[in-house]
Amino acid sequence: MFNIGCHLSSAKGMLAMGQDALSVGANTFQFFTRNPRGGKAKELDIADCEALNDLMAEHQFARIIAHAPYTLNMAAKDEGLRKFALDTVVDDMKRLSYTPSALYNIHPGSHVGQGVEKGIGLITAVVSKILEMDFQTPLLLETMSGKGSEVGRSFEEIQTIIDNCGNHQRLGVCLDTCHVWSAGYDIVNKLDEVLDEFDAIIGLDRLQAIHLNDSMTPFASNKDRHEHIGKGSIGLDAIVRIINHPKLRHLPFCLETPNDTKGHGVEIAMLKTKYLE
Ligand code: FE
Ligand code: FE
Ligand code: ZN
Repeated sequence: MFNIGCHLSSAKGMLAMGQDALSVGANTFQFFTRNPRGGKAKELDIADCEALNDLMAEHQFARIIAHAPYTLNMAAKDEGLRKFALDTVVDDMKRLSYTPSALYNIHPGSHVGQGVEKGIGLITAVVSKILEMDFQTPLLLETMSGKGSEVGRSFEEIQTIIDNCGNHQRLGVCLDTCHVWSAGYDIVNKLDEVLDEFDAIIGLDRLQAIHLNDSMTPFASNKDRHEHIGKGSIGLDAIVRIINHPKLRHLPFCLETPNDTKGHGVEIAMLKTKYLE
């Protein structure tokens, strides 16, 4: 079964996202837990969450992805900012207990000149605290392109965080195709080798979701510019190999291409014709 979806606006609530997903032929989706720039979340509506859960069960949805605001920085220099990241994730996790199908995706952070090692240490401290709290929602670290001082540009950096957190079972990884390509992993010409490397360093059992994006910028550019599927430097053939790869094809694939929901629907329909059932 092909698990494909796209990023959706959460403005109309949880059930509305499930309905929006169905309307574009999706059986998974992603949403920001609150304004992507941070700030307050909407008031929790438990009935709305339960209505979504019912809809997703009825229509056999794959797991959905709740994305943390991208302004959170678990590696920030300022202690107050790190505390803000922790408090925000904890609040998100409490809310996500009402949608048990959700995975929680977060950018590891940026070391802002403190160095990768220091950054990894700060991220580890925040992530460990979250994991100690025993929320049931898996926490996924997203693979990053390496723009600026982003941590998580290599499988080694991600694995160091996981190691430092005692290889906690609720810690996973979300692989963003645009980001790893921009970070210098050749998923176009050497997909098997890249996946073997991921398996050797992190372990493919930790990989729980794919952000499916083409890239506006060239290989190893360390930029983070998503492009429509087939219109960028990754290209349609490579994307088709990714969705059909025996080690990936069971995962939820989520589009974050620069599209509105209708445009995502067109991409989803096209990708469905390329998925080998
Ligand atoms: Fe992201
Ligand atoms: Fe992403
Ligand atoms: Zn991105």
